[in-house]
Amino acid sequence: MKKIFLTLLIASAFTLNSNAQSLVSQLIGVDVDVNRGTVNINPPNLNVIPKIIKNAPKDIGQALINPMAPVLASSIRFSRGQALNRGTQQIPQNIKNILSPYFPPNILNNTTWTTANGLSIDGALNNWFNQEGAITYDDVIVFSDQQLTNNIELWAHELTHVLQYSQMGVETFAFQYSINWNSLESQARDNASRIMSNLNSIQQGNNPKWTYNIAPNVGENPITWNQINNAAKLAIPASDCIWVNNQNNTTGNKCPCSVMVTGVIMKRISDGFVTTMPCNESTCLFQAGQYGPLLSPPGFVITGVTAAHQY
Ligand SMILES: [Zn+2]
Repeated sequence: MKKIFLTLLIASAFTLNSNAQSLVSQLIGVDVDVNRGTVNINPPNLNVIPKIIKNAPKDIGQALINPMAPVLASSIRFSRGQALNRGTQQIPQNIKNILSPYFPPNILNNTTWTTANGLSIDGALNNWFNQEGAITYDDVIVFSDQQLTNNIELWAHELTHVLQYSQMGVETFAFQYSINWNSLESQARDNASRIMSNLNSIQQGNNPKWTYNIAPNVGENPITWNQINNAAKLAIPASDCIWVNNQNNTTGNKCPCSVMVTGVIMKRISDGFVTTMPCNESTCLFQAGQYGPLLSPPGFVITGVTAAHQY
């Protein structure tokens, strides 16, 4: 059921190349390596954001420096609240015991679940729920049917999503969901299927060949959207945000975050002499998307700016 769902989404979603895919694993800190038979779960690593931006289309970078978190994050929080209001339960003890070698104790102890009866599912998340039979809102799993709570593989799958949330935070998860759901989904699918084969192997009296390395502080410091913005600003020079149009004498900020213009680069028309005039007026601060008149001093043409991001 999960596999059919995937092909539907991959076709329509923007797909990262495999290099960027592994960068996403580094960002989340969850690395499921099927070929080497290892799962490493470490604290998330924001240092890979500039590399992700270099590997992704321009609009991804623009979205990452946007101080407004993805709208989907609010609907995930809303749905989580709805489920909690209705009442959720602890993971059954037998499920916890079986999965304890594969998930950090805080994940198994803090995650709760309920069934979807009477809960509304946000449109953007409908496919997840319909195809998987369950959906995860941060640390709350909503099953479509009570019977599915006997399905160990489905628990392992949804708990991998809980782990992703606990590492990325809801905003970054929502962002990743909207640009490339497959990177999160294939991780959950790989982890769950490896857990199942590991459990089967143990049941047959074999020694497990699959190793789990879980750092002790995993899930304690989820990434905030503000941290994402700041890391992304390291990859996108503020001067790239400012456009200059000498044809109709206008200038503006094309980025979704505010930018401080620190200097105006201009060329003398008569001899091509280039100089930078410091900008220290209140008009030097450009809010997101702001534009206005461009005033070149007589005999000069403005060719660009020096600028700084606001933190
Ligand atoms: Zn899933």
